[in-house]
Amino acid sequence: MSEVSTENLSFRLPGANERNEIGRLVNSFNHMLEHLENSFRRLRQFSADVSHELRTPLTVLRGETEVALRWSKDPEEFRRILSSNLEEIDRMSRIIEDLLLLAKSDAGETPLNMRRVNLNRLLQELVLQGKILGENKGVAVSLTLPDHDNISVQGDELRLHQMFLNLLSNGIKYTPTGGRVALRLSVEDNQAVVTVADTGVGMAPEHLQHIFDRFFRIDRNRVQESGAGLGLSIVKWIVEAHQGRISVSSVPDEGSTFKVFLPLGEQPASS
Ligand code: ADP
Repeated sequence: MSEVSTENLSFRLPGANERNEIGRLVNSFNHMLEHLENSFRRLRQFSADVSHELRTPLTVLRGETEVALRWSKDPEEFRRILSSNLEEIDRMSRIIEDLLLLAKSDAGETPLNMRRVNLNRLLQELVLQGKILGENKGVAVSLTLPDHDNISVQGDELRLHQMFLNLLSNGIKYTPTGGRVALRLSVEDNQAVVTVADTGVGMAPEHLQHIFDRFFRIDRNRVQESGAGLGLSIVKWIVEAHQGRISVSSVPDEGSTFKVFLPLGEQPASS
């Protein structure tokens, strides 16, 4: 027993197979060790990923700054290096903001500002942003709304916007020029359903179960703008904080479809 420590959680007590009280106790204890071992492994991996994600832009910043100080004479060259440094600083700031948000949500410290949110309006605003993002890349962005009443949910408007924007910008990011991202709002089984479907690079089945994990990315080189792998973890957190769920289906080289289900808020008598 004294062998068990945070550095060595692979220890298991013998006798778990015995069919008596002690056997069951040993079994539960071994299960607990297994959970702890998995949690610590994930924590170690997470810390390594955080360090890696922040060290890479810092190395770039350092290298560029040193070169500028040592060699550059030309103000234009200084300007180019400073603006490239600014991009790296922005990247690090975004990662840190995302990490803080996830850490606070883990600790239950991210209060949601719940009110009635009109999804028709929210998606109309979102699609305008999406069209600008898409235009820069030659990806068409569309929105289909149901032709009946407005659909509302109880939620935090800013967080819902952030969540849909993450899905939409992923759709655009992982879709080559000439492709499409289609947003659709509908109602199924008393739930609001928002579908974000793209005609992009898609994902292999074995990756789908990991895409919501922090720092998980499928081959970073697939697309140039690949982020830190935190976007979908935030999406999942926001959906679940609204008592909703998210599903994904995808076919490599054909595209991906994300579906967000949210409980319907009380609908107004007429709207
Ligand atoms: P990232 O910041 O890398 O985009 P995310 O957490 O948003 O991180 O997504 C995790 C990974 O899932 C991405 O690196 C990408 O490989 C994959 N992915 C997410 N959305 C899509 C999509 N619409 N099409 C194809 N791959 C996607």
